[in-house]
Amino acid sequence: MLQEQITKSTKTPRYKVKIDKKLCGDPIECGLKCVKSCPFKILAYCQRKKPKFGEAPEKFKVISAFNVLCNDCKKCINICPNNAIKIKL
Ligand code: SF4
Ligand code: SF4
Repeated sequence: MLQEQITKSTKTPRYKVKIDKKLCGDPIECGLKCVKSCPFKILAYCQRKKPKFGEAPEKFKVISAFNVLCNDCKKCINICPNNAIKIKL
């Protein structure tokens, strides 16, 4: 019982970083501001769909790769020009 209470009270909050793809649009256009701003390198970017053989990738999206490391510092939210990032507990 006591152990359970201690575990609950010391449990690290887990944040979920949500990126609205529609609001973000083309992350390359904004210079990947959120990706560069995150001190823990939680945000990354990847191609939206696999390019055909011999073709360069066209569209990219921002993804949150390591949500568990997010401390809700809001640097990514504050720097995003399109208000495309939300952090949820
Ligand atoms: S809130 Fe801070 S730690 Fe979390 S993803 Fe954004 S910049 Fe990174
Ligand atoms: S800062 Fe905003 S607009 Fe720029 S890549 Fe990140 S989510 Fe997209």
